[in-house]
Amino acid sequence: MTVSRIILIGPPGAGKGTQAARLAEHLGVPAISTGDIFRANVAERTELGQTAQRYMDAGEYVPDEVTNAMVADRLAAEDAAAGFLLDGYPRTEAQVGELDRMLGGAGVNLDKVVEITADVDELVARLLKRAIEQGRSDDTEDVIRRRQEVYADQTAPLVGLYEGRGLLVRVDGLGAIDEVTERLLGALD
Ligand code: ADP
Repeated sequence: MTVSRIILIGPPGAGKGTQAARLAEHLGVPAISTGDIFRANVAERTELGQTAQRYMDAGEYVPDEVTNAMVADRLAAEDAAAGFLLDGYPRTEAQVGELDRMLGGAGVNLDKVVEITADVDELVARLLKRAIEQGRSDDTEDVIRRRQEVYADQTAPLVGLYEGRGLLVRVDGLGAIDEVTERLLGALD
């Protein structure tokens, strides 16, 4: 069986973005990161970017209708027809329902949901380091803490939901980047 429709899920700072890019290259599917798409829209000052920025800078989720429409659009692109790796979506139960509808409409199924796990103190330390290196506007200490709370509250429950569907694999996100990539590839095999 080819594993080509994958969700990466995990708390802020778990390394989803880094690993998504590596896995996508390995699997030959596009990595679709909602955070990256929002940031690109913010940089280009689009209407979507202006809406998203207020929420992102506060550490809150962008409203589901906005995010769902953006993802539906991206998944309809030709390069996602044979597979994709979703990084940062779905993040709410409503988004799970919407993704189910999108995939159902296309007549395809999810293959795997990979949870990258990490300890909260390690996550906060990583994000504070990234704040210094990249200057992301949502990497201040207060906002980082808020993002961890929002994750625990709204996104962590999705792990159990996908586990119930028999799609979940868990991978430890601590360790060297290469090591984690190896673990992920092993889990997807
Ligand atoms: P991180 O994983 O470090 O929280 P991301 O780059 O994935 O960072 O996301 C940054 C911000 O973009 C989130 O805090 C949120 O405001 C917004 N965002 C990204 N994905 C979603 C989503 N699926 N639903 C709602 N908001 C989202």
